Amino acid sequence: MSKVIITIAPTGAWPTKKDNPAIPFTPKEIAEDVFECYQAGAAVAHLHMRDDNGQGTMNLEKFKETTALIREKCDIVLNLTTSGDLNATDDTRIAHLRELRPELASYDCGTMNWNHNSVFYNTPAFLEKLGKSMLDNGVKPEVEIFDAGMVYTSLYYRKLGILAAPIHYQFVLGVPGGIGATVENLVFLRNLIPPDSTWSALGVGKGHMPIFLAALALGGHVRIGMEDNIFIDKGVLAKSNAQFVKRAVRIIKETNGTPATSDEARTILNLNKS
Ligand code: ZN
Repeated sequence: MSKVIITIAPTGAWPTKKDNPAIPFTPKEIAEDVFECYQAGAAVAHLHMRDDNGQGTMNLEKFKETTALIREKCDIVLNLTTSGDLNATDDTRIAHLRELRPELASYDCGTMNWNHNSVFYNTPAFLEKLGKSMLDNGVKPEVEIFDAGMVYTSLYYRKLGILAAPIHYQFVLGVPGGIGATVENLVFLRNLIPPDSTWSALGVGKGHMPIFLAALALGGHVRIGMEDNIFIDKGVLAKSNAQFVKRAVRIIKETNGTPATSDEARTILNLNKS
């Protein structure tokens, strides 16, 4: 039976309470939400922070408070974003990794236009600095791939030793400015990565379920949650992130898989337990 890692991405930087009032924003809300998802079967939590006005922020204190509250409740694998605010400086995007040394953090493998209204900067200088800082602090990169060129960029940094093999990839499909959320694109991307890699995938918005099901069928891991999708069904807002986790667990079991525990995820991803 294959073990499937469920990553919950409860918040993100973009959706607002107007989009879905159930999105957790404060450290306390995020910690409670993550614990509920952990109890339902999530093994990894991919975390973004919001400031007191609900905007995405890389504020170190918010990361500290939230991760401490989560650690009081459970041992879920923590995966902290390095891209929680498009205006953050390179140093601000790295500071929390040095301080908190999470087991995983996102590594966005290239610059792209974002949502047809802004630019998501991940310059060569930043990617080198981020990769080295992750190596120094024992943080495993989750290499987020928004388009095919980013896979080739990851192979370049792997060759330089800035990304250590085996690489763990997160394919993010359907972001405006990136590759579309189709099964063909997922198969194409999966075929580009080195065979020793591990990988997970998500589709944004209406691409959510097709990519979830295709990732399972291809033997990948999955990411779910309101960072990527606020609807549990067509036109029906999710009531909680745990609702997504419960559905994922049910489908994984029905397709002869088993949701991985957090410790099993650590083994699969070769993590240093924090
Ligand atoms: Zn994220």
